Amino acid sequence: MKLLFSGPMVLLKGLVLEVFSQGRVISVAHRTMHEMAITQSMLSILREQMKEKGIRRLKKVMVRVGELTSVEPEVLGFCFDVCKKGTPFEQTVLDIERVKPVGRCAGCGEEFVLEYILDVCPVCSGVRVEKITGDELEIVAMEGE
Ligand SMILES: [Zn+2]
Repeated sequence: MKLLFSGPMVLLKGLVLEVFSQGRVISVAHRTMHEMAITQSMLSILREQMKEKGIRRLKKVMVRVGELTSVEPEVLGFCFDVCKKGTPFEQTVLDIERVKPVGRCAGCGEEFVLEYILDVCPVCSGVRVEKITGDELEIVAMEGE
């Protein structure tokens, strides 16, 4: 078993932003379509990586999904299971790590979990808060042989 790569590989950054801009009005059907599109994109990236690295069997793929992406990990897992049937990924396990949104205060440097996008700093009440995690949607590692 070997680690094919570590370090984030961004999945469909543009799509995430597009969904963001539509806000919360997005329908459930729409959302499932969204996870399905992400899964298709992920499978094509995995195929390329396997070819490039000469991997025949992919055991596990680890992805990070930020809570601000509006991607539901359960739905993504479901889509992956549906899409992998009859493909070389049939035995591949999808490991999804959910990432909480964290902000850093520009005033005092405090880092804290964001409850709202426009949260103020709990230490100094500063309003200049930079979002440092929460909108990632990326493949962080693959294991194969
Ligand atoms: Zn602060």
